Amino acid sequence: MATIELFNTLGGKIEPLAPVGTPALRMYCCGPTVYDYGHIGNFRTFLHVDVLRRVLRQQGIPLNHVMNITDVDDKIIRNAAAAGVPIAQYTARFERAFFEDLDALSIEHPEHFSRATGCIPEMVALIEKLAAKDIAYQTEDGSWYFRIARFPEYGKLSKKDFGGIEDGARVDVDEYEKDAARDFALWKAVKPGEQFWESPLGPGRPGWHIECSAMATKLLGEDIDLHAGGEDLMFPHHENEIAQSESASGKPFVRHWMHVRFLLVEGKKMSKSEGNFYTLRDLLLKGFRASAIRFLLISVPYRNQMNFTFDSLIESTNAVDRLRTFHQRILKGSAAGSGGFPDGLNPDIAAATAKAEQDYTAALANDLNTAEARAAIFDLVRAANSAADAGTLRAENAAQILKVLALFDGVFAVLEDKDAAITRAALVWAEAEGRISEADPSIVATLSFSDADIDALVAERTRAKKTRNFARADAIRNDLLAKGILIEDSKDGVRWKRK
Ligand code: AMP
Ligand code: ZN
Repeated sequence: MATIELFNTLGGKIEPLAPVGTPALRMYCCGPTVYDYGHIGNFRTFLHVDVLRRVLRQQGIPLNHVMNITDVDDKIIRNAAAAGVPIAQYTARFERAFFEDLDALSIEHPEHFSRATGCIPEMVALIEKLAAKDIAYQTEDGSWYFRIARFPEYGKLSKKDFGGIEDGARVDVDEYEKDAARDFALWKAVKPGEQFWESPLGPGRPGWHIECSAMATKLLGEDIDLHAGGEDLMFPHHENEIAQSESASGKPFVRHWMHVRFLLVEGKKMSKSEGNFYTLRDLLLKGFRASAIRFLLISVPYRNQMNFTFDSLIESTNAVDRLRTFHQRILKGSAAGSGGFPDGLNPDIAAATAKAEQDYTAALANDLNTAEARAAIFDLVRAANSAADAGTLRAENAAQILKVLALFDGVFAVLEDKDAAITRAALVWAEAEGRISEADPSIVATLSFSDADIDALVAERTRAKKTRNFARADAIRNDLLAKGILIEDSKDGVRWKRK
């Protein structure tokens, strides 16, 4: 089995990652809180976990990966109450949107999704276990808290020194200040008008932190190989998960912690008030392609903070185009009988191909260095394109190059062009939500034709040219052009593309 090395927040250094105790690597990733549409920062984190999944699989490591769906928390309760609907009705819509967005970004589904509201009995049982050890305690209003003075290792993940922990100082919100070590809520007593669950702890609902401890243990066991999330979750969320789980089981909870650093937008924290807050759907409606968004968000290694800019998204669109054009060129050139590349092998290109494969694999195995992995493949694109231009690329080279491209695409997943269908689905959604006015008019026009419509018009134009009906041929070409669809006549025949 090959090895991969990954930075471990707990150990503070790069360490080998491998399953322990079971053949499959047991990994848990904090999933979305389904109170709104996912933004590109959320997807940066989920995309890098997808990269990790794909790299591990390429290395032959089987996976048992859980992603939770937080469908009850402070924000959900607040928003559902404001909308005057039960929380399940409120979250269903955003959960559906989340799954659509995962698919649009080619993010693989983990082996298990787990909804928090589907695991309330396990959360209650975990709190009861902590209560039996006098680590969880109940306050007068009926809520239950975790007594952090009983967990001396509190702070070991985020490397915070909470020397002067004030015993009994409490916090009941799910997210709280970075410098405060406070007893945090495990179970929140019901408040008037709020949804609640009956339980031996009294009527109430779980706190956010206990959700993940209970779901990870239920599906993966008490000690797991890897736990991932965005860097903001390190404290208090993950620190609290460790305190709960280790106090209950007496075992180390997680061997390897992976934290994806934040995405900034044009150098600033993304926020609605700054006007720099983008969901995936916002970008699709602006005319950017899903593949380019995926490629951009994974091209900056997960341990670097990433600055999102529109210039970089345009650059990413061009990069994906280049890769696809290259892929098509090699495919066509290697196709038998197409008058493509001549037989035999060009040893220089064979060496460049082997080097690209080696550099690509080494970069990803070294703490998922996606930037270097990408650069290795573009080196190959440059070398092979030059050889093909000079007529020195040969059929055996093409076969080797296609293998390396397949390896690369097993992780980067951008070669297959599903972009138009994804954007068309986003337009249908925008129409239904009354947000179609936000869509860039040119994409609305371009996508008003399906691929089959365009194929039919292009064929009609070819027929018109054959019968010397140039007026009709030109009219079709100009109509399509006005809708952003470009017809190109080349030696190999007629092609079209959306601009
Ligand atoms: P949430 O839906 O807010 O619970 O967040 C889902 C995931 O996205 C968590 O792992 C967060 O840490 C992560 N996340 C939130 N904002 C950002 C950001 N700006 N950049 C990267 N990851 C983020
Ligand atoms: Zn979590």
